[in-house]
Amino acid sequence: MDKLHHIVVVGGGAGGLELVTSLGDKLGKKRRARITLVDAGLTHVWKPLLHEVASGSLDANANEINYRAHARKHYYEFQLGRMSGLDRTAKKLVIAPFHDEEGAEVVPERHISYDTLVIAVGSTANDFGTPGAQDNCLFLDSLKQARRFHKLMLNAFLRKNHKALQGAEHTLNISIIGAGATGVELAAELRLASRELPVYGMNHLQASDVSISVIEAADRILPALPARLSAAATRELEHQNVQVLTGQPVSEVREASIIMKDGTELPAEMTIWAAGIKAPAFLAELDGLEVNRSNQLVVEQTLQTTQDTDVFALGDCAACPQPDSDRPVPPRAQAAHQQADTLFKTLCNRLENGEAVPFVYNDHGSLINFSRYTTVGNLMGNLSGRSMYIEGKVARLFYLSLYRMHQVALHGMLRTGIIWLMDKISRAMHPRLKLH
Ligand SMILES: Cc1cc2nc3c(=O)[nH]c(=O)nc-3n(C[C@H](O)[C@H](O)[C@H](O)COP(=O)(O)OP(=O)(O)OC[C@H]3O[C@@H](n4cnc5c(N)ncnc54)[C@H](O)[C@@H]3O)c2cc1C
Repeated sequence: MDKLHHIVVVGGGAGGLELVTSLGDKLGKKRRARITLVDAGLTHVWKPLLHEVASGSLDANANEINYRAHARKHYYEFQLGRMSGLDRTAKKLVIAPFHDEEGAEVVPERHISYDTLVIAVGSTANDFGTPGAQDNCLFLDSLKQARRFHKLMLNAFLRKNHKALQGAEHTLNISIIGAGATGVELAAELRLASRELPVYGMNHLQASDVSISVIEAADRILPALPARLSAAATRELEHQNVQVLTGQPVSEVREASIIMKDGTELPAEMTIWAAGIKAPAFLAELDGLEVNRSNQLVVEQTLQTTQDTDVFALGDCAACPQPDSDRPVPPRAQAAHQQADTLFKTLCNRLENGEAVPFVYNDHGSLINFSRYTTVGNLMGNLSGRSMYIEGKVARLFYLSLYRMHQVALHGMLRTGIIWLMDKISRAMHPRLKLH
């Protein structure tokens, strides 16, 4: 067992979990290599679902994958723990002590040896040091945060419903800072929640009592996407009675308001920070590995870190160059998915001293889902390189297929089909919103 080449993947997210699954099925099963996944949590939920968990339109329990059970099925080992350091000479990674919810130490600091290390620890929101943001904003970086948001939102609705019953002022002001895909989709999910909740007993509150604003520093929402898409998304948000504020940099976040750079104060009892990303800070302290200003590990086209050919990085935590572009690969689930595919080939080759496969990002386009209302997006033509605008049911189908592709990578076709069927049944049996 010890003589086997040991591949350690840190981070079982959109990219890392797909990678260990295929490595386990191919190399672990035949005992050609030992595969270990290390993750700070016990379960995986695909991150692009988090805003649906936050609004309650998706029950995370039904979409959660337990790493231990998954590891057993796919011939890899799982270690619960948070990576905190690296010794490249000894080829060991450091796992911080593990504490339970009461703060008691369960497992002390450990070291795990590796022959090949893949770092896939994702990213968190970047508040760019904005005063008050850490204390007064909610974030959607993890399942825990999404669940917390959901509870706070239900309580806020309850509080305002009670105020309405008493005839008191009862407007609930929710603001989302950052109008990238996450912020825009979250706004639509929250509008759905505000329309549905009265149906479930909070009938003193109207959807119009819930004021939702999306604030963007750039001069249009979805600034990274084509202008036509951002115009369509603006129209849809306004149609959903969501206030769209562009060209409005935020200078401070207070407990119940937001201060804009021009001094304007916007009331906001709930503020969600969804602007920008940065990789975890500990990456900047990893035994001399090169990082950029956002703490992302700088990698070559082969996804090998620039200082160590035995250490790879993928997904949001990696700054991977793109040929013919001065911008790195964007931090998106489809990029992490494609990088996991490329790295799988490279790591299989490595066992036979083969070449590392260069990664080339294939942008299939972008889709923005407005909850159950509509979807808009652009699809890239593979041959022409030009994008095609789509919306409505066809766009929604493409949007949903991104998650189904992730499920196929983790469970195979047959099980994904069964899960899809179970989802349909579950939707028919349960309320449209999670109410607890
Ligand atoms: C609300 C929301 C909506 C999004 N919607 C879309 C979308 O529609 N389309 C799209 O393409 N992208 C979307 N994204 C972006 C997408 O989720 C990310 O690009 C993608 O998840 C990155 O994958 P990853 O494997 O790099 O990291 P992640 O999926 O974030 O996984 C990182 C993993 O690393 C673990 N981890 C972190 N630190 C440590 C540590 N120190 N030690 C051990 N484990 C650690 C975490 O527990 C996690 O399991 C969305 C993101 C958010 C937040």
